[in-house]
Amino acid sequence: MNAFIDFHIHSCLSPCAALEMSPRTIVARAKAARLDCIALTDHSCVENLPAFQQACAEAGMACLYGLEASTAEEVHVLCLFDNLKLALDFGHMIYSHLPDQPNDPELFGEQPIVTVDGKVTGFAGKLLINGTDISFFDLVPMALEAGALCIPSHIDRAMCGAISHLGFLPGLPYDAVEAVGAVDPEIASRWPVVRFSDSHHPDQIARRFTEIETEAFTVPALREAFRGLLLK
Ligand SMILES: [Zn+2]
Ligand SMILES: [Zn+2]
Repeated sequence: MNAFIDFHIHSCLSPCAALEMSPRTIVARAKAARLDCIALTDHSCVENLPAFQQACAEAGMACLYGLEASTAEEVHVLCLFDNLKLALDFGHMIYSHLPDQPNDPELFGEQPIVTVDGKVTGFAGKLLINGTDISFFDLVPMALEAGALCIPSHIDRAMCGAISHLGFLPGLPYDAVEAVGAVDPEIASRWPVVRFSDSHHPDQIARRFTEIETEAFTVPALREAFRGLLLK
């Protein structure tokens, strides 16, 4: 099947995202934008994934369960699972590698854990936009080993992109790389290039998306589908 996917969306849990980014709002906007499969990818925290799963199930929206982990070098990496339990386990491990600095909502914004319709049930305690103590070179194999699709985020962006923070894109077995602008053909022939919205506000959902040909929205099927995007 032909499918439109957006696998980089933040909920209100990310301090930099709008508080109206509740699971139901995200799913409603994704439906309105005619996306076929979406992923929730908050910064180094997975506490809104259960409500996201519920919102997707209610609306009949296919989804992946993810997070955007930040490495010791402050490079962002999308880790995407087709299984909620695996995502929660991996996400809890990532969160435990964040420094113990508490969030200051005045400075960075709130980090609410919410129900499907955005009712606040708690807050993530640690500041989620910090880097973990896991290096990029360790995080990529850890994510793959845990069963995730591993996709370095916005590799061409100055803030928290692999190329600007590491000086180059290491030759690791990513499933794809996410880019915002034009990509060096050498990179695009080596790794599939995907474009996602990196939404922090409802209006941003599907502002960038990727069209793929896939059998299913499972990790193995998507891994295979991404290969179809390689520059020949
Ligand atoms: Zn990012
Ligand atoms: Zn992001």
